[in-house]
Parts: sequence; C-alpha cells; structure tokens
Amino acid sequence: MPVRSAGAPHRTAHAPQVTETPEVRAALSWFSRNLSWINDQQVRITEIPAPPFQESARAEAVKALLTDCGLRVSIDKTGNVIGDLPGVTDKEIVMLTAHLDTVFPPGTEVKVRRDGDRLSAPGISDNGTGLAALIGIARAIHEAHIKPVRTILFVADVGEEGEGNLRGMRALVDAYRAKLKAAVVLDGSGTDHVTTKALASRRLEVLITGPGGHSWSDFGMPNPINALVRGSIRFINTKVPASPRTTFNLGQIEGGTSVNSIPYEAKLKVDIRSESEDELTKLEAALRESIAAGSRDEMESSRDRSKGKLEWKIDVLGTRPGGELAANSQLFASLRAADDYVGNQSRVERSSTDANIPLANGIEAISIGAGGTGGGAHSLQEWYEPTGREMGLKRALLTLLGVSGIAEEKSK
Ligand SMILES: [Zn+2]
Repeated sequence: MPVRSAGAPHRTAHAPQVTETPEVRAALSWFSRNLSWINDQQVRITEIPAPPFQESARAEAVKALLTDCGLRVSIDKTGNVIGDLPGVTDKEIVMLTAHLDTVFPPGTEVKVRRDGDRLSAPGISDNGTGLAALIGIARAIHEAHIKPVRTILFVADVGEEGEGNLRGMRALVDAYRAKLKAAVVLDGSGTDHVTTKALASRRLEVLITGPGGHSWSDFGMPNPINALVRGSIRFINTKVPASPRTTFNLGQIEGGTSVNSIPYEAKLKVDIRSESEDELTKLEAALRESIAAGSRDEMESSRDRSKGKLEWKIDVLGTRPGGELAANSQLFASLRAADDYVGNQSRVERSSTDANIPLANGIEAISIGAGGTGGGAHSLQEWYEPTGREMGLKRALLTLLGVSGIAEEKSK
C-alpha cells in the first residue's frame, strides 16, 4: 500500500510537520466531543485498586475497553495488556503505553470524590490520566478509521512504580526489541514537559542482624539499630556533586520488636539517583562502606560479644538504567511538530520513567503527561482537573502518528 511521504517514518527530522488528513482531523475532533466520556473512564479505572504486583483486576477492565476500540487485545505473562492495531507493515512497531500500577497498598480507599471539575482519589492523576488517554486515543483512531504504516501497540503495563522496577516495560522491550522503533509513555497530567533523558537510579536495602536480647539483662550486646544509625550518619555525610546532579534518600526504616528488646534486625531502604552512572556507582560504594563501618563501630563499642556478632548485607532491589533520546530523532521531531500544532511549549526533562528501558536499549522513547492538571501524586490527597486535557490528548495522538506514519486512504 502506498505511503504518505509526509507521515512516513522516513521523513527527515528537519521539516517536522503534522500530517493533516481528513481522518486525522476526525480523530482530533472526536476528542472534543467525548471529553466527559474520557473523564468517566478515568474515574472507573481509578476506582479499581492496582497496588504493586496486583494490577490484574484493573488490567482486565482496560482489556475490555481496548477491545471495544476494535483492537486485538491480549495480556502477556508479565501482566501487560497489549492492544494490537496492525499497520501496513508488522515488521516495525511503535508503542503507546501507560502504567497500570499505583503506589498504594491494598485496602487504600480509592473512591473518586468529585468537587466541581476536580476529581480526587489516590492514583487519579498518576496514572488514571495516562490510562484514560491511552483508551481515548485508541478509540479516536478507531472511530476515525486511521490506518498506520507501522503497527501500533496500545499498552497498559505493570510494574512502573517502586519495587515493580519497570518489569512490565522490561518484558515489552525484550519481546519486541527487534521491531520496536519508538515508545511514547503517558504518565500523569500536564503538557508542560517532555522527558527525553532517563535518570539512572538504584534502590538498595540494608539489613543488619544480631543476636537480640533483653534491654536490661543483655545490655552491652551489639545492637543492629545502633549499627544502622551509626552507618546512616556516616552515609548522609557523604558529599554528592550538584553537577552531575546526584541525590540520595533514606526512605524507609524498620526493625525491632519492642522497646525493651535489643532488636535482632534492622532494615533500611535507600534510593540513589544521578545524571551519571559513575556517580551512582560511587554512591553505592559509599553506602556499603558506611554500613560496614557502622557495624564495626557498634561491635567495637559493645561490652559483650560472647552471644554473637552483627552481620550486614545490602541487596539491590532495583536499578533503572540511564539513556538519552537523540535531539535529531524522529520521535523528538514528531513531539515538537505536535507541540507546534496544538500551540504548546514544553521543556525537556530528565526523569526516571518507563522510558528508561527503551532509551537504555537505544530505542527512541519519551514520557509525557496526558493533559489537564494534577497534583499530590503518590499521596492520599491526589487530585486531577481536566481543563486542558484536550490539548494533551491531541499532542499525544499527533506525536504517536508522527512516528507510526499514516497509510494513504484507499481510493474511493
Ligand atoms: Zn506514574
């Protein structure tokens, strides 16, 4: 089938423009007429809990919605929902993705409260907005009968947040690596940014164990919490560079059984991030040295070492590799053309998102908000307001079609 040169993947990055066929105009105007339907899908999806590693109920609901968009939909063994829109060729694939999971544990109240236009619920914006946009865009393309050149996969993926460690996106890149040409990740609200640089990060868990005992009768035995505190103070005094920006966070601490027991274990979760993989490696080494020294200090100062000693270890809970989208890439040109078309300005950002995985594998990828305004992500006070959603939907659709290409309409 002949291909429209302006929308084809072979277009140069120097003259980016949006291909404005009647079908594309029909898809864009479908959004204007169906904004309240999209809001309703966002509410429905948000009210289905999707705690880490428990995304399957929400996945089934998204599968049904994508099936209604005329797609062949399957759920892979990792739990990703994949809706397939065949292009002129299936040798090249582009993906539009939104993550299913939230950071909220089972039992969190996720009923959406409506106050005027404002919708409030944990997960309403991150990633209720992205999921609603994924479905809205699939539906608009279906209603407008757009046939892409490259096959488009509409994907609701698992495991983006926290200890999910991007496992959904890792599985997708593994499965489609050879054919995958670009990934557009929809995450949260807004149209003010485009993430083209993947922030490298590691999540580590420190575990210190000891014999444990009674606070009075066993006083003087080595105490894992003391060791953890000693080591943590050493670590937080580590100097990190402002450039390349490098950060650390002691995010979670636990251990002990009661106030009058010497604990037998203490745990600490640490998140470290950097614009440079080298700095990340240095910082992880600093954490290991600090914890080793803290445990050693505690052992040396304990009066009674007869009942056992402290052991420590550090496990890597997750790593997110770094990477960067080339400034002259087709995907970046498509995004900028879409921004121009809808009259949007967006700044380039570095962040840790699902786009890290394709970017680290040399595949073009960006992460963008799906429009509207949101706030309080990862808190119980999370909210979303749909004003401005239409621009976000159009921007994402046009960016996607810029990299998928649009097949020329059949002669009438
Ligand atoms: Zn998110």
